[in-house]
Amino acid sequence: MAMGNLTDVPTSFRQVSMNKTSAIRSAAFVLSTLVAAGFTSLAAAAEPASTAVTQHAQTGLYRYQLGDFEITVLSDGSVPQDLHALLKGGSQPEVDGLLARSFLASPVEASINAFLIDTGSRLVLVDVGAGDFFGPGYGGKLLGRLRAAGKSPADITDILLTHVHTDHSGGLVHEGKAVFPKAALHVGQPDVDFFLAPAHQQGVGGYDKAYFAQATAALTPYKASGQLQPFSGVTTLLPGITAIPTPGHTPGHAFYRVEGRGQAITFIGDVVHVQAVQFPQPAITITYDVDQPAAAQQRQAQFEKLASDRALVAAPHLPFPGLGHVRQEKTGFSFVPVDHHDRDGQ
Ligand SMILES: [Zn+2]
Ligand SMILES: [Zn+2]
Repeated sequence: MAMGNLTDVPTSFRQVSMNKTSAIRSAAFVLSTLVAAGFTSLAAAAEPASTAVTQHAQTGLYRYQLGDFEITVLSDGSVPQDLHALLKGGSQPEVDGLLARSFLASPVEASINAFLIDTGSRLVLVDVGAGDFFGPGYGGKLLGRLRAAGKSPADITDILLTHVHTDHSGGLVHEGKAVFPKAALHVGQPDVDFFLAPAHQQGVGGYDKAYFAQATAALTPYKASGQLQPFSGVTTLLPGITAIPTPGHTPGHAFYRVEGRGQAITFIGDVVHVQAVQFPQPAITITYDVDQPAAAQQRQAQFEKLASDRALVAAPHLPFPGLGHVRQEKTGFSFVPVDHHDRDGQ
């Protein structure tokens, strides 16, 4: 795996090697995505399609009982992140020091976690992973994990997107068709406006056009079928499930708070990417943030609230299964993973 070849990538998205010929458009699209997303293996883009979705299908599942609701964390895979290229607002020695404190060094592996909620009457997914967009081996394991959990895509009644970035929405489609034929697709209206705007399809404000093309590819079949159901403001979407807009990372980024018989969990999306860095230093942002200052402010405000509420949270990019609590420290915050239950009936 070729590592560390992105050191010349500036800390903003950069259009790279987007080839125009149709014969290699697909590979170039993947390449552009990988580079834009800070992924460091370029060899993977040229590999043939594999059965990565079905490999290791018995792993990557984590069940958590929340009152009446059963939550199953589904690993969509993990991807390497070149944090020297991606993080903003902190010096490289500071970032390296924080990583070393957690026994890590860049590149750091980021989980892509999606979450299945069985309410008894509805079967809800929170985010759907990257699908085919990052190439074989890089995400796209969600459907295998869903089948391993005993469910099929047609069983899903609702999908809650924390935002429209490809690693959360790419799994909506396969070969241009909707993967989830019956699901209502809930997403913040400002993300629909931002990512689908015709005027943004060539990129905007230094934000790579691949994001807009991929978002359009992911949402279009659901828009055409009437499954796309955008919301604005704090909205109760289903009994016990509330959308809470938290803009910054993207304009329509949202938390989802789920309450089942007195217990609650909050799905916090991309308010945090790097546990070892952004809990102690919430002001450090990442190139994926559409509005860097707003993303940093939102993280600080939400960490304060989640810590003070002692809220259980579920995060897509914290190490699988990404469930735990935010703790206020003397300076900054830390993340405390949930304890482990593996007892029948628990
Ligand atoms: Zn994101
Ligand atoms: Zn993400």
